[in-house]
Amino acid sequence: MADIVSESMIEENFKEIKEDAQNSGYYLNTDEKFVKELVSGILTNRMRYGFESCPCRLTIGKKENNLDIICPCDYRDDDITEYGYCYCALYVSEDVIKNNKTPKPIPDRRGMKKEKSLSETFEDKNIKGMKCLDLKYPIFRCKVCGYLCARNTPPEKCPICKADSERFEKYI
Ligand code: SF4
Repeated sequence: MADIVSESMIEENFKEIKEDAQNSGYYLNTDEKFVKELVSGILTNRMRYGFESCPCRLTIGKKENNLDIICPCDYRDDDITEYGYCYCALYVSEDVIKNNKTPKPIPDRRGMKKEKSLSETFEDKNIKGMKCLDLKYPIFRCKVCGYLCARNTPPEKCPICKADSERFEKYI
């Protein structure tokens, strides 16, 4: 299939992303032209790979190996908290908008995750300790927004950020 994204597709998707952001307490970069370029990248990736992978990261391999970088990626919230914007600067904090700050390049948390997995963190040890708790239901966590729920299987869609069930991890 040709990687052609039409203007109307971009407009439609832009509206959807903007509405979703407004309804869930997120902010889009106010540079509309820039945001539409990112939207075009996301849609191109959808046509190329079959899923909406991050427009600023390299997608190699199958969907199951790239779930963490389907937009919004697993790293968005941590990046907004630490830097005020996500890796691509599609999502920004309220502070960035109010104070008219310009996003600058930030490290890719995806690469840092690999380093972290080599050394166990304090939190990892604590979670392992909690796993001995006798819970009636397992706890599932949405890796996109952090939503937690206690049930036998993850929900089909996250009620908060609408991520699909495959973006959930068994937390405890
Ligand atoms: S960095 Fe931003 S644009 Fe890229 S996938 Fe994450 S949330 Fe989407």
